[in-house]
Amino acid sequence: MPPIFALPARPAAAIAGSADTFPVGRIICIGRNYEAHAREMGKDPSREAPFFFAKCADALVPNGATVPYPPETANYHFEGELVIAIGKAGAKLSEADALDLVFGYAVGLDMTRRDLQLEARDKGRPWEIGKNFAFSAPMAAISPVADVGHMVKAPIRLTVNGAIKQDGDIADLIWDCAEQIAYLSRFERLLPGDLIFTGTPAGVGAVVPGDVIDVTIGGLTPLRVTIGGKEVDFA
Ligand code: MN
Repeated sequence: MPPIFALPARPAAAIAGSADTFPVGRIICIGRNYEAHAREMGKDPSREAPFFFAKCADALVPNGATVPYPPETANYHFEGELVIAIGKAGAKLSEADALDLVFGYAVGLDMTRRDLQLEARDKGRPWEIGKNFAFSAPMAAISPVADVGHMVKAPIRLTVNGAIKQDGDIADLIWDCAEQIAYLSRFERLLPGDLIFTGTPAGVGAVVPGDVIDVTIGGLTPLRVTIGGKEVDFA
């Protein structure tokens, strides 16, 4: 039977050095995965079990885009993050086998309506409205593992208008890439097209229209976005 309307095509991400694209199924994000960031959010950085939230795949934004300033926030934050792109299906994986699922890695931004996230958090509600909204997941081209290997240690830096705001290292992830994948795979079968945003180092902060955010992770394609105006047309 024919559908009564057409949905947009699935989003796809660029692949560094290739004309092919990576179709995106789900966007899964881990919270508080660097000690210094957990502390700046007022939380104990001890190594408790990881926790996750999700964004719609449609939230993906390509490199170089202008990102509209979202509605209903006065505290719109950047979070520069390493992203894992999953290329194979797998469940109940050991840490030793977890990285076999990885197609590649990319530089991403978990853009956040911090005021709405913290209000929800403090009321014991889901973070959804602070985290999952249109244009909230900018990401640069994915570098295949075949080209860059696995991400164990690499500087991760974020600047706003050239000023350094975040300056960390992938080595400081509380739960590294293999541990995140193994843990997630206990609860859900991971699938090709899944993206895992691995958490942000310390130094998160607000941006305003006109700001330019640059994020770099050693060895990967750098990400740049410009923050656009406050008028998103929903009507
Ligand atoms: Mn994050």
